[in-house]
Amino acid sequence: MAAAAEKLRIRQWKVSEPLHGRLIGLKYLVLVGLVATAFYSLTLAETLAEVEPFKTAVTLMFVRSLPFVVYAVLLLALSAKVHKAYCRYLCPLGAGLAVLGRFRFFSWLTRRSECGSPCRLCEKHCGINAIHKDGAIDYNECVQCLACVAILHDTDRCVADKYGKRRRNSRRSGDAIPVTVSPAANKMRD
Ligand code: SF4
Ligand code: SF4
Repeated sequence: MAAAAEKLRIRQWKVSEPLHGRLIGLKYLVLVGLVATAFYSLTLAETLAEVEPFKTAVTLMFVRSLPFVVYAVLLLALSAKVHKAYCRYLCPLGAGLAVLGRFRFFSWLTRRSECGSPCRLCEKHCGINAIHKDGAIDYNECVQCLACVAILHDTDRCVADKYGKRRRNSRRSGDAIPVTVSPAANKMRD
């Protein structure tokens, strides 16, 4: 949906950090509600599982009664404005995976010592706010899109790489080593 919105030039809202912090709790509430309901009534839990719009939008191609269609369309419209809104804030499956993710044994997405300070480029490119200000990745929220990994491995985009190149060039030419990363990196800071 984000790609389609981009093609249609629909400007997306970047959810502020404080609001994002509050909204991510919603999907855990949905998960707990569904699990608790399943103990009471599986039929009711099945109905409540309709919180996910994919059955309406993908499986049934919107051939359903009006309330389901309206709900799915509203979520699609929201996702056009807020990147992966459903996955980030409502999806009980995502909440379940995030809970399991807390038991991970290692952090597999590479970071650099410059990430977070001074450079915050990847944080600004992570559409779902899964990179903290200090450069650390929030694995509970990360959807493994690998956008930050692509930047890190791109010598033309990763500020740390550019900085490293400048340092090496400065050393070779005998010039003073620059003490700031780059004006671009400084602009990235809030
Ligand atoms: S992999 Fe994607 S979602 Fe995860 S932190 Fe990197 S940019 Fe964000
Ligand atoms: S551009 Fe490079 S240094 Fe900057 S945050 Fe991304 S990986 Fe880290």
